[in-house]
Amino acid sequence: MARHAIEPVRRGHPWIFREGIVSVSPQGDAPRIVRIVADEGLVVGTGIFDPGSAIAVRVWSLGSDARLDENVFRERLERAIAVRRSMFADGETTAYRLLNGEGDRAPGFVLDRYGDVAVLRLDGDAARALSPRLTSHLEAVLRAAGITTLLERAARTSEAPGRGEEEGASKTVTRFGPDRAEIEVREHGVPFVVDLAHGQKTGAFLDQRENRRRVGELVRRRREAGLGVRVLNLFSYTGGFSQRAALAGGTVTSVDVAMKAHATAQRSFRLAGIDPAAHAFVTADAFAWLAEAKRKGTRFDVVISDPPSFAPNERAKPRALAAYRALHRACADVLAPGGHLVAASCSSHITAEDFVETLDDGALGRSDLRVLDVFGPPPDHPSVPRFVEGRYLKLVLLA
Ligand code: SAH
Repeated sequence: MARHAIEPVRRGHPWIFREGIVSVSPQGDAPRIVRIVADEGLVVGTGIFDPGSAIAVRVWSLGSDARLDENVFRERLERAIAVRRSMFADGETTAYRLLNGEGDRAPGFVLDRYGDVAVLRLDGDAARALSPRLTSHLEAVLRAAGITTLLERAARTSEAPGRGEEEGASKTVTRFGPDRAEIEVREHGVPFVVDLAHGQKTGAFLDQRENRRRVGELVRRRREAGLGVRVLNLFSYTGGFSQRAALAGGTVTSVDVAMKAHATAQRSFRLAGIDPAAHAFVTADAFAWLAEAKRKGTRFDVVISDPPSFAPNERAKPRALAAYRALHRACADVLAPGGHLVAASCSSHITAEDFVETLDDGALGRSDLRVLDVFGPPPDHPSVPRFVEGRYLKLVLLA
């Protein structure tokens, strides 16, 4: 390994990029478990090697005697599950991330729980190739945790830790237990429907759970204070934010290009006792719709924007920042005076500070808004300190 690439790894960054590698021995292009050696010959640690990827090595352990086998995988998984046990002990939330890859010291392996179903996502060819070997205890551990079906989502181009980057269509296979296509789960006691067979990510965007609750509280507080509660939810997907806003007494317009997602959203509304007919579900491109709303003078008291990732890689960053600025301008244009703007980003290449700057007065074309709060991913999506990419989710609340 090249010298410059070692320091971040020693500090806990779990990736070695291809350009950080000096030589590979033995040669060969099969994904495999490797020992990571510094150029002076010292063993740095152990990881999984992905010859075809820009993220060449995902580091599992530091130190010269580090092993990587099915027992290490089992131990990491059990530790991850134990931490969740206290987080969700009240039983009010039945959908959460059980194992967060790099953030749970299990690089390349992500597991989400939806009630008694778990969904596995493997990031990179090395995780896919080594999964049969490393996950041989998976079924036993999951069954002990009350999981009766394990599905595997085969993402087409999954490299990044965050989300959005792997939103393309993906195939689902059943690893054990009866096939399941759909399930009802709860978040803070609020029921909703998850399409396990076709949904994005592993079925739902679990990373926004706490933010959905925050939006619900925001709308409730506005209503109690006698303020307007016309809510616009852009990129609404299956209506998580919309449902919370509606439950809190808001009148919600949900905008998404995916018509099928609206159908799932409406079913979740009904499950929670909300009449979807009292709210609007618009199948449209958010940018075009915002331009039209501005022209017509339509205004909202709370605007939520949670688009897919705009930056699939580092090179796309300047373009992505410009796209966020344009989107935020369009949101600000339809935000009523005294309104709240809720802007999210799930691009792992854009830091929280970068993202806050896309909401500056120049971008918004107005100077009355201030940042009230900046939120990151929830605790079931932990990260390691050095791995800023793991803190891909940012949500900024302005008013
Ligand atoms: N806020 C959601 C997650 C949003 S994911 C939640 O909490 O569950 C991003 C969504 O943006 C997807 O549903 C996708 O269909 C939608 N989308 C992507 N491009 C779009 C566009 N140009 N206009 C409207 N929706 C778009």
